[in-house]
Amino acid sequence: MKKIPQISVLQVPVRHLNLLEYQSKVLLDNHGVTIQKFKLLDSAEYALESSTSLGAAEYVVKAQILAGGRGKGHFDTGFKGGVHLTKDANEVAKLVEQMVGHKLITKQTPADGILVRKVMVAESVDILRETYLCILMDRDHNGPVVLASPDGGVDIEEVAEKTPERLLTLPIDIFEGITEEKALQVADFLNFKDSLRKKCAQEVMSVWKMFLNVDATQIEINPLIETPEGRVVAVDAKIQFDDNAQFRQKEIFASEDTSESDPREVDAASHNLTFISMDGNIGCLVNGAGLAMATMDIIQLHGGVPANFLDLGGGVNEDQVYQAFRILSGDPSVRGILVNVFGGIVNCATIANGIVSAFKNIDLKVPLVVRLEGTNVAEAKRILAESGLPIQSAGDLDEAAKKAVAAIQ
Ligand code: GDP
Ligand code: MG
Repeated sequence: MKKIPQISVLQVPVRHLNLLEYQSKVLLDNHGVTIQKFKLLDSAEYALESSTSLGAAEYVVKAQILAGGRGKGHFDTGFKGGVHLTKDANEVAKLVEQMVGHKLITKQTPADGILVRKVMVAESVDILRETYLCILMDRDHNGPVVLASPDGGVDIEEVAEKTPERLLTLPIDIFEGITEEKALQVADFLNFKDSLRKKCAQEVMSVWKMFLNVDATQIEINPLIETPEGRVVAVDAKIQFDDNAQFRQKEIFASEDTSESDPREVDAASHNLTFISMDGNIGCLVNGAGLAMATMDIIQLHGGVPANFLDLGGGVNEDQVYQAFRILSGDPSVRGILVNVFGGIVNCATIANGIVSAFKNIDLKVPLVVRLEGTNVAEAKRILAESGLPIQSAGDLDEAAKKAVAAIQ
């Protein structure tokens, strides 16, 4: 499940706390959710001892990065898969060597991947079925919702789109919580039968307990599996937290692994720009956090979701505009770009020249909508018009957002 961006009125966007799989699993374990026993490795050195100490018949070796889709991913070395099974403990060390120190590229990582520093080796479970379970705070329902599907282990967006009848959306009264009755309803929808029905319901209630306890805004378990021996196990998990709860979740927030900061943030920062990643598909070039917020709200109002924000700040030069475009258009999720700049200190003509230069130097394949207002805007409009480039102009922010949303349809 993708992060659902909040419409922020007064809040400045913050980098959301993200935990690695093993950290999420410690939290799940602490709340009574069934996980696989595991050890954490940062090199192959203790791989053999660690694996054998698990006393498992088979091991699963998993690269720890802050992104999903690892199983189907590949490394920059060409080595395939960030999730591997092996029955041979000696083999674990070899797998760890193929992973640690290499970049893993998945559908959810930047195009050049994320460096793997840690690897989990866990007792492998035999999988009879993979299901999907998620509890999240849902804007549409003004409260928590359980999302569940008997078709787990795959992209849930795809299930939602192609077989919506296979996705249960169950609103939860936050005061009442997930009652046994509701939990059983979820278990039934997930097709857990007989004794597994109660086991699954217990897992669902444990996840709910954790949801409240850690101030999560989303706990996604994909897959929640059934084994041939009749176990229900959370095999993969992703958690999002309410940033406003940082003051009472100090330990969790302090555990964040910041070693893999988004390379785009680092790239942007080196040009004195601010990059904020979101989950949609419209890349936004703005100046100032306030305008970023307004842009986000209006895009969402018109049914779109920003992919990211690149904040030019004040006193921007042409090269920075070029760099901003380079970073924005390098994001594979960007299907259209919206420039929304209010020229106060910033001269609109500088922005326009930067856009034209970016267009000429970057093979821009996505539609571009530009709304400029303020200092020297007439000159800026002339530059854009005379460039002969396929740029859609917009008179105001509302029109710009509408055009940007329409452009990516
Ligand atoms: P993701 O690819 O990043 O979502 O990583 P997951 O932890 O979800 O693993 C991907 C897939 O690998 C799962 O959907 C399972 O099909 C498989 N997998 C993961 N762990 C195990 C395991 O312990 N045993 C078996 N048999 N398959 C596993
Ligand atoms: Mg998964």
